[in-house]
Amino acid sequence: MSDFQALAHHLKKARSAVAFTGAGISTESGIPDFRSPSGVWSKHKPVMYDEFVASREARIRYWKMRTQLYAEFENAQPNAGHRALAQLERAGRITAVITQNIDGLHQVAGSRRVIELHGTARVIACIECGIESTPAEIVVRLQTGEEAPDCEDCGAPLKSKTISFGQPMPITEMQDASQLARHADLFLAIGSSLVVEPAASLPRLAYQHGATLVIINNAPTPLDPLAALIIRDPIGVTLDAVSGHISYSDPGK
Ligand code: ZN
Repeated sequence: MSDFQALAHHLKKARSAVAFTGAGISTESGIPDFRSPSGVWSKHKPVMYDEFVASREARIRYWKMRTQLYAEFENAQPNAGHRALAQLERAGRITAVITQNIDGLHQVAGSRRVIELHGTARVIACIECGIESTPAEIVVRLQTGEEAPDCEDCGAPLKSKTISFGQPMPITEMQDASQLARHADLFLAIGSSLVVEPAASLPRLAYQHGATLVIINNAPTPLDPLAALIIRDPIGVTLDAVSGHISYSDPGK
C-alpha cells in the first residue's frame, strides 16, 4: 500500500478527522513562511503587541512590514492542498481545519469550518472600538502618505486582525481547537514544524485522547515518534491524490 493509499484508508475509517495546517501548505501558493530564512521576520524585528500600542514609531515599522506582506498575499491563490481539504470537508471526511496561517486561503478554497489560531490578515480592525476595514482600504491610506493609520471613528490605532508576538492566543479559537483535538479519531498535521506553542500541543493532545496521528511535512518534527504515518511528499500532490482516491473508490460519499 502506498502512503497515499494508507492515508486514504485512515480517512475512510475516521469518524471525526481534523486537519491542522501550518505555513507549509501555503508556500505552494507562493506565500513564504514568515519564520523561514527568506521570511519577513528574518529581515525585520517583529513588533511586540505592547510596543505597538505604546509607540507610534513601532506602528510605523509594523505598517512597513505589513505593506510587504499584503503585496505577497494579494495575488496568492489556494493550491491543490487547500482545495483537497475543502473537498474532503464537503465529502464528510474531515470535520474542520485548524490553521496557524493568517492568509485566509482555506476559506477562499471553500473550507467552511476553519479555526484561525493566529487570526487573519484579511481584516484590519481598530484596537479600541473594533471597527473593521479591508487591507485594500488601508493600503490606499498608506500609499497616500499615512505612516500608521488610526481609526477614523475613535482615533485609536488600526491593526491587522492577526495575533502579534506578545499577544495572547484567542480564547474561543483555542477552546474550539482543543475540543476538536480531544474528540478527533484522526489528526492530520500538515505543513507545520510543530514547534510553535501552544498550537503545537494540539496534535499531542489529539494523540493522548486516542487519535491516529498523520504528519505531512517535508522535514522531521518533534512529534514524528507519535505518528502512525509520516509523508514527506509535497502537500498539494499528496492531498490531491488522497482526495481523488477517496472520490474514485467511494463515489457515493
Ligand atoms: Zn475605533
